[in-house]
Amino acid sequence: MNPLTRLDQTLPLNDEERMLLDSVRALARERIAPRAAGFDRSGEFPHENVAAINALGLNAMFIPEDCGGAPMSYTAYLECVRELSRACASTGVIWATNFHAIKPLIDFGSAEQKQRLLPVMVNGGLASLTITEPSAGSDATGMKTAFTPDGDHVVVDGSKIFITNGAHADLYLVFGKWSEIDDGKAAISALVIEKGTPGLTVVREENKMGLRASSTAALAFDRCRVPRANLLGAPGDGLRILLASLNKSRPSVAAHALGIARAAFEDAVQYINDRRQSGRRIVEFQGIQFMLADMATDLALCERWLWHVATMVDHDATDFGIEASMLKLRASDLAMRITTDAVQLFGGYGYISDYRVERLMRDAKITQIWEGTNQIHRQLIGRSFMRK
Ligand SMILES: Cc1cc2nc3c(=O)[nH]c(=O)nc-3n(C[C@H](O)[C@H](O)[C@H](O)COP(=O)(O)OP(=O)(O)OC[C@H]3O[C@@H](n4cnc5c(N)ncnc54)[C@H](O)[C@@H]3O)c2cc1C
Repeated sequence: MNPLTRLDQTLPLNDEERMLLDSVRALARERIAPRAAGFDRSGEFPHENVAAINALGLNAMFIPEDCGGAPMSYTAYLECVRELSRACASTGVIWATNFHAIKPLIDFGSAEQKQRLLPVMVNGGLASLTITEPSAGSDATGMKTAFTPDGDHVVVDGSKIFITNGAHADLYLVFGKWSEIDDGKAAISALVIEKGTPGLTVVREENKMGLRASSTAALAFDRCRVPRANLLGAPGDGLRILLASLNKSRPSVAAHALGIARAAFEDAVQYINDRRQSGRRIVEFQGIQFMLADMATDLALCERWLWHVATMVDHDATDFGIEASMLKLRASDLAMRITTDAVQLFGGYGYISDYRVERLMRDAKITQIWEGTNQIHRQLIGRSFMRK
């Protein structure tokens, strides 16, 4: 058994989680992976995959029991993200985004909000985490979307860009600024906006380099009236909610990246064991063995760090932001490097879309950009060592 397979077997999952993981792996292998190239080519949203994921009731694993869910560990959740992404990175991120968008509602919503809104997700809904704006990317606190209270409603005006699941979501977790609070950061607030709310429009969907079957949409809010009952916490609680939720979504972005990296690594190993040049298998050349050694070693260490952060979360750690940044940074850089090396190991065939390493390399790039670019994560990690 190779060390990566052995590492997979050490995951601290209970029997119920193992059974679910077996079903997810079978679905990923038999139905999702074979369709991934087609969805990448067409750019069509993979509704069949979403339906198949919902047939397993996968959203329930992060929804509390009293709202109809069947909660499982964060480790089990991350392993599902990794397995789905290994089969189809677009499908993996569509499902992971449900968690990213809904976790703040679970952690900061009132009992009434959870009872009313979470069943949408238990029943297979899709959600979007809606932060980025045309002029507010890395510095999300520069957002301009305005939340103006008006009796029992909040009127939302503004625009968002690059929103995953944006054209298909049932629930949008939207961050904006409370008009009655002057200080920019202190004004940030979070609202859940339901699909079909008048004034919310999908302006367009982007044509992308990778993750081509996932939806990335620009949204407009034009005097969009949202019940005040959908405000998470109090006006001005948004930044605290945003930072706490990013800490939990970053390990998930890393699991997505590591799923892509693992697929590329496995494809490359298989290929160089079969392909022959100069009378030998490619894997027999020492230069190639050195490449393989670096890929396998870095993958094993990064996967181990993934499970370390997962265990911290499962043990209710609250101070794990830097560990999550280190994980997101290293996993995404590694995904880019391993997919690029995999293309190299395939030679000319790696550049041709008949082999999936070409798609994996395109899919990997975004992982270095979203959920905080890697420049921002390097800053966060470095700054954490500055003496106060
Ligand atoms: C496919 C896709 C899906 C996405 N999904 C979502 C989503 O679901 N929800 C959502 O809210 N957003 C989403 N995003 C947005 C994504 O999180 C942002 O693109 C990202 O945060 C970077 O912001 P930006 O694109 O405005 O780049 P900018 O912030 O303009 O950055 C441009 C460059 O400058 C660098 N830079 C910026 N500031 C600094 C600094 N202080 N120090 C050093 N370097 C810096 C960056 O690292 C980058 O290299 C998505 C984006 C894409 C492409």
